[in-house]
Amino acid sequence: MIFLEQQAKQLVTTQRTFFNTGQTKPVEYRIQALHNLREGIEKYQERILDALRADLNKSEAEGYGSEIRIVLGELDYTLEHLREWVAPRSVPTSSAMPDAVSTIYPEPYGVALIIAPWNYPCQLAFGPLIGAIAAGNCAVIKPSELTPATSRLISDLIQEIYPEEYIAVMEGEVETSTALLKEKFDYIFFTGSTGVGRIVMKAAAEHLTPVTLELGGKSPAIVHQDADLKLAAQRLVRGKFLNAGQTCVAPDYLLVDEQVYDQLIEEIKAEVRDKFGDDVMQNKDFPHIVNTRNFDRLSAFLTNGKTLMGGRSNRDQLTIEPTVLGNVDWDSPVMQEEIFGPILPVFTYRDLNPMLDEIIRRPKPLALYLFTENEALQDQVLNQVSFGGGCINETLSHMTSHYLPFGGVGESGMGSYHGQQSFEVFSHHKSILKRTK
Ligand code: NAD
Repeated sequence: MIFLEQQAKQLVTTQRTFFNTGQTKPVEYRIQALHNLREGIEKYQERILDALRADLNKSEAEGYGSEIRIVLGELDYTLEHLREWVAPRSVPTSSAMPDAVSTIYPEPYGVALIIAPWNYPCQLAFGPLIGAIAAGNCAVIKPSELTPATSRLISDLIQEIYPEEYIAVMEGEVETSTALLKEKFDYIFFTGSTGVGRIVMKAAAEHLTPVTLELGGKSPAIVHQDADLKLAAQRLVRGKFLNAGQTCVAPDYLLVDEQVYDQLIEEIKAEVRDKFGDDVMQNKDFPHIVNTRNFDRLSAFLTNGKTLMGGRSNRDQLTIEPTVLGNVDWDSPVMQEEIFGPILPVFTYRDLNPMLDEIIRRPKPLALYLFTENEALQDQVLNQVSFGGGCINETLSHMTSHYLPFGGVGESGMGSYHGQQSFEVFSHHKSILKRTK
C-alpha cells in the first residue's frame, strides 16, 4: 500500500509539473494527441477484440459495435469540432457598463483521474479520456481489475502513444484506486457503482476536487397498451441482453399493460430465439458474467419469480441464459438492487399511475424507456418522473448520440458527458469582464 501511495504521488507530481509547462494547452497539441489515440486504437483493434473476448466473451461484432466504434465516433466528432469549442465565447454585458466586454474562456482543470468499470472496459476508459485530452488536461486512468486483459492492453496502448507525464495508466485493484484517491487531482471522472461513487466523492471532498459520477441503478421500461409490440420486443431484447445485461442503461425491469402482457412475452421469446438461437446456452457468442461473485449473486435471483423464459445457467462457463420472470414481488431481492445481468422481472398494470409512484419512491433511475405513441402519456411520464435520460420507443440509443449529454441524477450519478459535453465537463469556464476605458 505504501508503495502504491508513493507511485500515485509521484505520478500526480510528474503530471502536474508537466501540465504547468503549458504544453498540453495549444489546440494543435490536443488534436495531435487525439489523432494518436485514434491511430493507437486502430493499431490495437485485434488485441482489443481478443481482450474483450477473453474478459467477457464479447463477440467481434459486439466488441466492435459497442466499444471500438463508439470511441472512434467520439474521437471523430471531437476532432471535427474542437477548434470551435476551445474558442473564447463572447457574451453580452449589462447595459450599465457600456464600455465593457464579457468573455468566457474554457481552460483545462489540470490533472484528471479517470476511474473505469469492467462492463464496457474499453469504451468507458477511452470515452472520458477523449474529453480530458480535448479540454487540455493531463490524465491518469485506473481501469477495472475485473477485466484484466483489457486493463493490460489499455496500459500498453497508452504507454506506446503518450509520455507518462501526460497520460498514464495505473492498473490494479481497490488499493490502487484508494492510493490514487488520496492524491489531489483537479478533476475526478468516475464510472461505476453507486456505493463506490460515494467513496470517490468523499475522497474528492478532502481536496475539494470536482467530480463527475456516472453510476448505475434500476432503469424501468414501460410498454403501454398501444405500443407496437414486435418493435418493443426487438428493442427491449437488444437493450436488456446486450453484454448479457451487464449494461448500466439496460432496462432493469419491465412494466407492461395487462392487456398486452401475453402477446409481449411471446414476442420477446420469439425475438430471443431469432437473435440468439433456439438454445442460448450453446451460443458461443453470448457474453458471460464477469466473475463467479456476480454469477452467484445473479443465480440467486432466478428463483425470485415464475420463469416465463430461460432460467438456466452454467457456473463453469459463467453463463446465464436470457431470462424473464413473472409474478415478482416488489420486495423480492431482485428488486432491491441493480440486476446487471440477463434477468428481466416483469410487472403488469391496469393503471400506470401507481407504477409511476413506485418508480418515484425509489432512487432516481439512470434511464427510463417508454413504449407508446400516446403523446399525453409521454408528456406525463417525462414530467412526473426524474431520471438520467432515456428513450421513447427505443432503448440504449440516447447514450450513443453526440448531441445528448449522458449521465444520471440523484443516486444514478451527477454530471454528464459525450460530444461537446465531454469537453465542457473537463474544462473550467473562466469568466472575464474587461473594461476598455
Ligand atoms: P465498481 O464501482 O465496483 O468499480 C468501478 C471502479 O472503481 C473499478 O475501477 C474499481 O477498481 C474501483 N473501485 C472498486 N471499489 C473501490 C473502492 N472501494 N474504492 C475505490 N475504488 C474502487 O463498479 P463495476 O462493478 O466496475 O461496474 C458496475 C457498475 O457501474 C454498475 O452499477 C453500473 O450500472 C455502473 N456503470 C455506470 C455507467 C454509467 O455510465 N453511468 C457505465 C457503466 C457502468
